[in-house]
Amino acid sequence: MVAGSGPAGATAAIVAARRGWRVALVDQRTFPRDKPCGDGLGPGVAQLLRTLDLGHLLAGESPATSLTVYGPSGAELNAALTGLDGMPTEGYVVPRADFDQRLRLAALDAGALDLSGHKVTGTGLADDSRWVSVRRGGQEHRLDAGLVVAADGAYSVLRRALGAGRPGERTTGIAMRAYADTDAFDPDGPLGLRMIFEWSKELLPAYGWVFPNGKGLANVGVGVMVTELRRRSLDLRRVLDGFADSCRRRGIELGDLYAHRAHHLPLARRIPRLAHRRAVLIGDAASMINPLSGEGIVYGMNAAYRVVGGLPDDPREAVGQARALGEFERWFRHTYRSHLLSSQVAHGLMSIPWWARHMIRAANNDPVVFRDAVELLFGLGRIRAGTTWRILRHGW
Ligand SMILES: Cc1cc2nc3c(=O)[nH]c(=O)nc-3n(C[C@H](O)[C@H](O)[C@H](O)COP(=O)(O)OP(=O)(O)OC[C@H]3O[C@@H](n4cnc5c(N)ncnc54)[C@H](O)[C@@H]3O)c2cc1C
Repeated sequence: MVAGSGPAGATAAIVAARRGWRVALVDQRTFPRDKPCGDGLGPGVAQLLRTLDLGHLLAGESPATSLTVYGPSGAELNAALTGLDGMPTEGYVVPRADFDQRLRLAALDAGALDLSGHKVTGTGLADDSRWVSVRRGGQEHRLDAGLVVAADGAYSVLRRALGAGRPGERTTGIAMRAYADTDAFDPDGPLGLRMIFEWSKELLPAYGWVFPNGKGLANVGVGVMVTELRRRSLDLRRVLDGFADSCRRRGIELGDLYAHRAHHLPLARRIPRLAHRRAVLIGDAASMINPLSGEGIVYGMNAAYRVVGGLPDDPREAVGQARALGEFERWFRHTYRSHLLSSQVAHGLMSIPWWARHMIRAANNDPVVFRDAVELLFGLGRIRAGTTWRILRHGW
């Protein structure tokens, strides 16, 4: 059974159904549904969709062609994202109401059973299975599963029920997004399909983004650590509206913001135990969000692909299943540890105005720093020895 039909859960259901297993895809919501997000799909998402033979889910979408980063004291980086051989730069912006529905329909096409509108309320072990209680229309039922993939997001019920606790405040971000109508980013518009990030002095310790989809819509948002929000009594909606105004003062034509929504981001500063008896945590339920970029979709989808793909042919058999879940947990930590640790350090540094200014200037002046920054933001990059020195030298 898969709990949660966001990108992580839907991917798990696709892989399981294609392996010929009976899989129920449970979600408390009915679809299509909105999910507060920047709607940015990094290069790893496009790559995994192709691996799954689902590249067509992005048909009709245009990849971003350039990047602007605003920093403190006028520091600014402008770069093309095309023609950069070997660098992970293929990024799309697709509203989550659309993207999650496309992925979910692919899971149902593959044979997953649609249990939308069912809220998971708890779980426990039975003899050779795991039960999950679900509520629908005031009625409680129990489902029996050989394995539960817990992909029920940032406020995961299953994470708590499995004893993995809640994400701590010190490791959790909060972000608000809104939409604005705009023609400025259409492929033949004045800015082209440009992704904008902002780490300016006015905004810090929050950061901001404008992610256009090239079809007349931009996702505009701001994010900050929960601890900072509380310490400074920030009103996120005012921060976001102020950020949109500052974009307009820069000459970026944005219509009025609408559909403001905020949501927590459990950051990968502390990943809970993933493998449990007859259950595994993935995606936001497992705090798989990059602390620097706020990107979480690719980590959740890759985790889903890997964990379900690595199960033995008889996924209910206890010993083989436990071994596969343990191997998945070791793979995840080994593959992402230094990348996520580097992203955490970089996130801390980017909150310091003079460092953010140096970093942005250095990335503008030094192609090696630029490459490392792109790898860290959009790929599996890490902070390499020598890069810090180059930032100080070229950011001056
Ligand atoms: C404002 C903001 C901007 C962001 N921007 C980006 C970005 O641009 N790019 C990026 O990659 N990431 C971004 N992220 C992070 C990204 O949104 C998440 O990492 C991603 O949605 C995680 O996918 P998931 O499948 O694990 O969980 P979700 O997408 O949250 O899906 C979880 C699903 O579980 C369901 N569910 C929850 N509880 C229950 C229950 N009890 N019973 C049944 N179903 C349940 C929910 O309805 C939901 O459908 C952003 C996050 C925020 C808040």
